Amino acid sequence: MREIIAKLFAKSISPKIKLNPYAGSSAFLTGTNNINITLKEDDPEGEKAFLQHIALTHKCHFVNEISPLAWTILHEIGHYFTDDYLTDEDREADYEWRKLLSLGIIPDDYSRPDDSIDEAYFNLPAEWEATEWAINYIKKHPRKCLIFGDLLR
Ligand SMILES: [Zn+2]
Repeated sequence: MREIIAKLFAKSISPKIKLNPYAGSSAFLTGTNNINITLKEDDPEGEKAFLQHIALTHKCHFVNEISPLAWTILHEIGHYFTDDYLTDEDREADYEWRKLLSLGIIPDDYSRPDDSIDEAYFNLPAEWEATEWAINYIKKHPRKCLIFGDLLR
């Protein structure tokens, strides 16, 4: 049921998007219209850190009104819609920073050196844009996002 609702939610945003249930981490597959999505809640710590980031860093006051899975779906769809926002230079930095962060290292040229690893990851240029897209989408379509958000709890 969760899978059907998740796919319906994505299709209601763009019929082009393909949501694939996936056992690993949720991810937008760059340069495609495919999104891998984890339907099981198996990373409560990561989820908590993400929601906290949305509330505190993006200063979003309605974070808890939308279910975590709905946030994840919207964030990944945000990658699809913001994929071309980055310049080649941004993209190169994003790629290098991502590799270093995965090793638990904050890069020397990273713009917010005091971030935790989680926070630094969420503040990567591509991640930031995807989350901003999600927040703005909810602002534009609050009713739909609340309904799907509840169905996906
Ligand atoms: Zn992301």
